[in-house]
Amino acid sequence: MTSYTVDRNVPWPVPIWDADTVRMIAQDLGSGAYAVVADTAEEQTPLGIPQATSGGFIVGADAVLVIESMMTEALARQVLDLVAAATDKPIRFVGVTSDHGDHFFGDYVMPEQARIIQHENAFRAIEQTGIEPRKQAQIGWFDLGKGIEDVRYRPADLLVPADGRLTVNLGGGKFVDVLDLGQGQTPGDLWYHDPQAGVIYAGNAFICEKPAIPWLLDGVAARPARTLRKIFDWLPADTKIVPGHGRVTDKEGMRFFVEYTEQLVERVGKAVTDGLSLDETKKAVPMTEFDVGYPLYQWLHFEVNIPCAYQEAAAA
Ligand SMILES: [Zn+2]
Repeated sequence: MTSYTVDRNVPWPVPIWDADTVRMIAQDLGSGAYAVVADTAEEQTPLGIPQATSGGFIVGADAVLVIESMMTEALARQVLDLVAAATDKPIRFVGVTSDHGDHFFGDYVMPEQARIIQHENAFRAIEQTGIEPRKQAQIGWFDLGKGIEDVRYRPADLLVPADGRLTVNLGGGKFVDVLDLGQGQTPGDLWYHDPQAGVIYAGNAFICEKPAIPWLLDGVAARPARTLRKIFDWLPADTKIVPGHGRVTDKEGMRFFVEYTEQLVERVGKAVTDGLSLDETKKAVPMTEFDVGYPLYQWLHFEVNIPCAYQEAAAA
């Protein structure tokens, strides 16, 4: 039996969101594509209140692709129920967007015949650390007794290599592109794009619309800024974007997130060039125009994102 300690050094009451109270709903985005979001997402995303993981599923003539298996068995079962309510086609594929537990821990609950898709870097990172430290980390954010302790590791079957892509054939001309578009948050981010439906599933590389800002927990800022800009410029204007956490949005809804990341890199980079210390940089780069109602802004901007961008720029 594994014992867990809970890291309470989180600037928001734990759990960040409560898996016990999350009720997922399916949203029909047309042409067989569905988003799965918390029923609070529509109202609370614009208020900056952290939301449960968003994902979805895509139905073709022969098969279903589920995107994100969620954090716990109970949440994964909600996804399975929503799929069953929409279609009797079998789930043949489950695609996850990263190596973060709230996106892939539910893999073990998915149907046995389904093939799990993940970025090769995410898969290798999980294999390297093992599942237990990842469960521990998630418990730090989401608390004990929410089902995370019970998670069993199920390795992915299909690995998308760095800079690679995979096309999933769901039958009847329904193809879904699984894309490595560059590091957004982690080095193992994947985006799932259904060009026919005009829908893209982003994962944590794009958490949600304004007022949220990125969580640059992986120690890099410049690469995510470039990646986000590239994706933003590439996306057709009418694409529906299912973010990592929150309600469905569109390209305009992504602008704030992209611009914050770019500005962070640019302004912190200038501070480093000017010889400022980290503390001086925090004073010089408050970026108050982006502090517009996200309750986690002060902690994320000053304690996570500025130090991340600063250390990266100083090492360059
Ligand atoms: Zn997440």
